[in-house]
Amino acid sequence: MQYQPPVNDIKFILFDVLGADQLHSFEKYADATPDIISAVIEEAGKLAAEVLQPVNKIGDQQGCRYDPDTHAVTTPDGFKEAYKQFTEGGWASLDAPVEFGGQGLPHTLKFIVDEMVCSANLSLGMYPGLTHGAISALYAHGSDELKKTYLSQLVSGEWTGTMCLTEPQCGTDLGMIRTRATPRADGSYGIEGTKIWITGGEHDLVDNIVHLVLAKLPGAPDSTKGISLFVVPKVLPHSGERNPVYCGGLEHKMGIKGSATAVINFEDAQGWMVGEPNDGMRAMFTMMNEARLMVGMQGLGVAEMAYQESLGFALERLQGRSLTGPKNADGPADPIIVHPDVRRMLMRQKVLNEGMRALALFTGHQLDLSVAHPDEAVRQAGDDLVQLLTPVVKAFLTDEGFNNANMGLQVLGGAGFTTDWPLEQLVRDGRIPRIYEGTNGIQAMDLVGRKLGLKGGRLIGLLFDTIKSFLAAHGDAPHHAELASALQSLEEATTWIATNGMQDPEQAGAAATPYLRLTALTVIAYLWSRMAAVAEQQLAAGEGHTDMLEGKLVSARYYFEKLLPESRWLLADIVGGKDSVMALTAEQW
Ligand SMILES: Cc1cc2nc3c(=O)[nH]c(=O)nc-3n(C[C@H](O)[C@H](O)[C@H](O)COP(=O)(O)OP(=O)(O)OC[C@H]3O[C@@H](n4cnc5c(N)ncnc54)[C@H](O)[C@@H]3O)c2cc1C
Repeated sequence: MQYQPPVNDIKFILFDVLGADQLHSFEKYADATPDIISAVIEEAGKLAAEVLQPVNKIGDQQGCRYDPDTHAVTTPDGFKEAYKQFTEGGWASLDAPVEFGGQGLPHTLKFIVDEMVCSANLSLGMYPGLTHGAISALYAHGSDELKKTYLSQLVSGEWTGTMCLTEPQCGTDLGMIRTRATPRADGSYGIEGTKIWITGGEHDLVDNIVHLVLAKLPGAPDSTKGISLFVVPKVLPHSGERNPVYCGGLEHKMGIKGSATAVINFEDAQGWMVGEPNDGMRAMFTMMNEARLMVGMQGLGVAEMAYQESLGFALERLQGRSLTGPKNADGPADPIIVHPDVRRMLMRQKVLNEGMRALALFTGHQLDLSVAHPDEAVRQAGDDLVQLLTPVVKAFLTDEGFNNANMGLQVLGGAGFTTDWPLEQLVRDGRIPRIYEGTNGIQAMDLVGRKLGLKGGRLIGLLFDTIKSFLAAHGDAPHHAELASALQSLEEATTWIATNGMQDPEQAGAAATPYLRLTALTVIAYLWSRMAAVAEQQLAAGEGHTDMLEGKLVSARYYFEKLLPESRWLLADIVGGKDSVMALTAEQW
């Protein structure tokens, strides 16, 4: 079926719940009026449905092709044209810096476009997605000369970017990288080494690919403290000569087959340092943090498409009769949507997807406040919340995005398992976001091991205060008591980790994943309460789309009755400690 962009839900969350219709009151976002934002959302939806989705299946069937003689990579049929339309329409440059040709629009819009692009064609979305991260890293850490040389072409999409971290012997533990950077007399560096699994490492969409590469200088410390960042173009911009950077092959993957995942060999290629020596991880984190948020949107995008497909199927497929008597008496059977178990699956998809969208847009809005609000305290608070929630968005949206795609496949029964329907592709494509950009286990470690303690616990304290202020100001907020109880669980879990994790880091390690989940469920509960409160107000005032608003109230009830109770056993899991996790001896496995 054709993708139906969830425009009404997005606008409801963005404008009515989060208040992003006021963004244009900040100087930086003066152009971002509600009309402009609405137009961008609507046009992005059309592009996703009409340009990107039509080449999604062929991308899966054909995949990318590698020619070992020329080291060239050919993308699936139609990708080049779709990418061209994407970049020519300015979609790659929405929130990019104006001085390099970007449109300087709010970051939340990029989040929204990412969701839509990934609903329609996750593989194709990877090419501009990684480029965007490269732009941010160069913009934040590159010299004026590097910015001048690379940014305009990256922003326009004329060139694409990559992120080259992983090597055969190291993925998570980047301290072990072996790629070397040798200083040259002209101030540049000779880059030598092999990177693997590089997204968009080689392809035919554009003429030049700008690699951002982690490498070590001679004598650098043998840990992440000895890593520097370099920009290494495929084609040298000043001379037009080919830099010795070659694709050594493509991975054969279970999904995102239209995205070229390449082995890249740097054979004494010329590169330039970005930022300071041995400070590459900090610079790369600019790119990774942004990419983590984008990957979260991939999870949501896949989940939304799966929901639309399974809902459409459930309305059409006739099997069995309703437990309360026929609902399609003239037909041979009732549509399967009458069955409570099918509805359970659809409700889980719908309610989690809308909750995840609210979490993502809340985070995106905080990001916008952190760069555009005139009040320093609001900017700081926005930044604190974004830092805290980045691993939560990445991990929860990709875990539940995949689970929802899988749930969608179940709704289709056997049809879901066949290639006649898109669910099996969505499940395969939706599996990888849980792994790349730091596995979800590593996201949980980032939350517990780094973010909780950051600035003396200020980040998590701010989250607690945000929810408490809402509860205090809205004593009659829908599901007030359940939200207060979930918050209490999160506070209890936080105190437990702070106490026990300090004495024994393995306690924090064992608690990390359930803690991240508990955080996500609690923040989403806060947002469901806010969404339900707005829906009640609008219904009372006779505003808005009645069906959608009434649906919001039912969905909120479903969330609090059926999904949030998981927070109780997550707390039990956390305070249960590490013992049963760590107790098996080597012989007992
Ligand atoms: C399709 C695809 C595209 C990719 N694109 C890129 C790209 O563009 N650029 C790039 O540089 N890389 C890319 N990667 C690599 C990706 O980022 C890594 O696969 C990922 O970071 C995990 O590293 P790994 O596979 O080596 O797993 P490992 O690091 O070997 O981890 C294996 C398991 O151990 C766990 N683990 C490891 N260390 C710890 C720890 N300290 N604490 C707790 N658990 C731990 C992990 O969570 C995981 O479950 C891509 C990978 C794929 C499959």
